[in-house]
Amino acid sequence: MINLILFGPPGSGKGTQAAKLVDKYELLHISTGDLFRYEIGNNTELGVKAKSYMNKGELVPDEVTIGMLQNKVEANPDVRGYIFDGFPRTEPQAEALDRFLMSKGQEVTALIALDVDDDEIVKRLLERGKTSGRADDSNEEVIRKRIRVYNETTSVVYNYYDEKGKSERIEGKGTIEEIFSRICESIEKLNV
Ligand code: ADP
Repeated sequence: MINLILFGPPGSGKGTQAAKLVDKYELLHISTGDLFRYEIGNNTELGVKAKSYMNKGELVPDEVTIGMLQNKVEANPDVRGYIFDGFPRTEPQAEALDRFLMSKGQEVTALIALDVDDDEIVKRLLERGKTSGRADDSNEEVIRKRIRVYNETTSVVYNYYDEKGKSERIEGKGTIEEIFSRICESIEKLNV
């Protein structure tokens, strides 16, 4: 199995690259943001709860997020591996993911971090907000809040896996194809 974490600030291109990696490596793409938006669309209890955090640019509480992620993995056991996109976003989420995978005799193969500077991110997200219909993309205050949360709470997840020798940093500026080639190069080096 190959279990990748696609990591990086909001708007760094994780979703775009994940879609391409899924095709090439036959992995299941699990985006916690997409899962929350699906729940919101169906007006479920989980969705209503998640929405109140997401619209403010805050993280949804760990226990809610971890449970939802585990359910998605459990529901899809027959795959070659997973691409986790937008998860883990806190150290407790990383620890929970490790424990969960270990209970299945698996582990995180690598964390691939897309490096993009703050100004570029704000520009990309405001642009995406024009068409995505996402409330959290159309307000610059909320975007800046998400970047702050990333720097303060999420970026430590990079160090967490770096200490295990599993973190890879990729230049996230360039064309979609250029960035995709860089990611593939780094996956090929893993020898899995
Ligand atoms: P982006 O990476 O562009 O911020 P996502 O779709 O990954 O977009 O996430 C949107 C929002 O969903 C986040 O700002 C957060 O509120 C919530 N969210 C997604 N994943 C997580 C997570 N792992 N833990 C807590 N909240 C999450």
